[in-house]
Amino acid sequence: MRIDVFSIFPEMISTWLSFGVVGRALRQGVVEIHAQDLRQGAGDPRRSVDDAPFGGGAGMVLAPGPVFAAVEAATAPRPLFLLGPAGRRFDQAMARELSEMESFSLLCGRYEGVDQRIVDHLVDGVISVGDYVLAGGEVAAMAVVEAAVRLLPGVLGNEASSEEESFSDGMLEYPHYTRPAVFRDWAVPEVLRSGDHGAVRRWRQAESLALTLQLRPDLIEARGGLSEEDERLLRRHGYSFLVEPDTRRRSGDAPPRSSEHEPN
Ligand code: SAM
Repeated sequence: MRIDVFSIFPEMISTWLSFGVVGRALRQGVVEIHAQDLRQGAGDPRRSVDDAPFGGGAGMVLAPGPVFAAVEAATAPRPLFLLGPAGRRFDQAMARELSEMESFSLLCGRYEGVDQRIVDHLVDGVISVGDYVLAGGEVAAMAVVEAAVRLLPGVLGNEASSEEESFSDGMLEYPHYTRPAVFRDWAVPEVLRSGDHGAVRRWRQAESLALTLQLRPDLIEARGGLSEEDERLLRRHGYSFLVEPDTRRRSGDAPPRSSEHEPN
């Protein structure tokens, strides 16, 4: 995979690249990442890339000339995505989409943003990392690159670790514990030390469901609500209070018999 990141601060990207999972992926040769300097496209000795906005107002705007020139000279791999608050919200599904591409490029805005002609005629899409405003696209680009690269085959030591984690099946992940078994009177749940793999799996499923219901009910809603099996699992693990009738899957099925709700 090849990823190009265009920025007026390419050193921010190239310094960050060498660390952690992304650094390992680079060393493994799984991905090549090019931090491209937008100022390469500047045509004046001061290497200016911005100008004042037409119509007045505060701040400067990244000008089309230098940005088009930098992207075209680098023959940036497509698709090219601008980072911006007005884009499609970045999530795990998009990270997976990107990780399945042969290549893509990211364009980092700065100042008040970029000239609209860059949005209309240069990029293939806009990605937002959330409903807040950063000072520039670099931090957003790093989040996008890291989330995509860690999904590339072979990058994480254990393939299963990216399949089980938060959002991979539309749910938050269950809690993790490590040694010591008791820390300041806080003990690790007994089931995790039982050696019963089936019980551990069921506990993790129940915890994942309970956590998602409590913190992100929208994710449960997006899955179509709770199935009867989900409800049974929650009840069996002491989460009856979370099982409300209106969170049940609305499939048109006949309502479950009351005996099916009893812990077993
Ligand atoms: N004036 C713009 C607005 O109100 O929408 C904000 C510009 S922001 C200060 C400068 C640059 O940071 C943007 O061009 C974009 O590249 C990046 N940026 C800021 N917030 C972002 C977000 N939530 N997601 C992705 N990029 C963002």
